[in-house]
Amino acid sequence: ARRVLSRLKDVPAVTRDGGRIGLQANMELPNEVGAVLDSGAEGIGLLRSEFLFMNRDDVPSEDEQYGILKDVIERMGGRTVTVRTFDAGGDKLAPALGCTIGPNPSLGLRAIRLGLARQDLLEAQLAAILRAAWHGPVRILIPMIATVGELRATREVMNRVIRRLRKAGMPLPDPLPPLGAMIEIPGAALSADAIAWHADFFAIGTNDLVQYTLAIDRADEAVAHLYNPLHPAVLRLIQFTTQAAHRANIPVSVCGEMAGDPRYAPLLLGLGLRELSMTTSNLPVVKNRIRSLNLVAAEGLGRTIMEQTDSGKIGQLLDNFEGR
Ligand code: PEP
Ligand code: MG
Repeated sequence: ARRVLSRLKDVPAVTRDGGRIGLQANMELPNEVGAVLDSGAEGIGLLRSEFLFMNRDDVPSEDEQYGILKDVIERMGGRTVTVRTFDAGGDKLAPALGCTIGPNPSLGLRAIRLGLARQDLLEAQLAAILRAAWHGPVRILIPMIATVGELRATREVMNRVIRRLRKAGMPLPDPLPPLGAMIEIPGAALSADAIAWHADFFAIGTNDLVQYTLAIDRADEAVAHLYNPLHPAVLRLIQFTTQAAHRANIPVSVCGEMAGDPRYAPLLLGLGLRELSMTTSNLPVVKNRIRSLNLVAAEGLGRTIMEQTDSGKIGQLLDNFEGR
């Protein structure tokens, strides 16, 4: 079976009725580039940049970050790299950031909240990404966006950085990298139509979206059995976000673990998604599942599932769906 899956590397992720699905890779460390390319991923849909801050007592400089990102981008050979700004703080605490753990880390000063509170850190990272973007196609992704205001404030910081780099004579790509929002907070999903006017693309983070929608700590074993991506509330948020992106004519992908599970592929396609980003090791099985599906049938399944109120029934419908 491994050999069959590895032969899938060079075939496109296309449904039986010709629907083209984009499959990208999630990446946590720069040394994964080889595995990403081997998996047949069309690009990196989520480069978690936290590694730059881990296991050290100081903050990486703009130049250091630039060097590492440039290397990844060059090795990706013209495939798009979606760099997410640091989702540190909270429990993903890097001592370098000098922040304290609040009473509830997952609801605390982390990700873009920390970036906007510590604009020196955000500016250095945006500068590094913008400079690295000269070496290949890059998208900039902002984690934990809750409001339109946060995205607008981030764009102002980015514009300030761009002016500074231009003044210093740094070569920047034209067009500049798109600026996208992670949709992983229920409030952001419910206002996705408003956020879409200010975002160049969306990436739906189902790991956190499930956690915050159902109030289930994603790392707590005691409630792991209640962590359910098929809860109708989660599916409605994914569907609303996807439709808002379509109406605003911006790309939308799913980059949470849900995208890397072949079980959910027909449902995500049925909800209107055409771009999935996942752990590279899952990419071949998801592609295999997509190639067994009929897109029109998946959309029918999506409509049926969205009429359901019971996640057990939704799971059954999904598992009984053959794909034709
Ligand atoms: C997510 O929340 O779904 C996501 C992709 O980001 P992370 O797992 O890094 O929080
Ligand atoms: Mg997340």
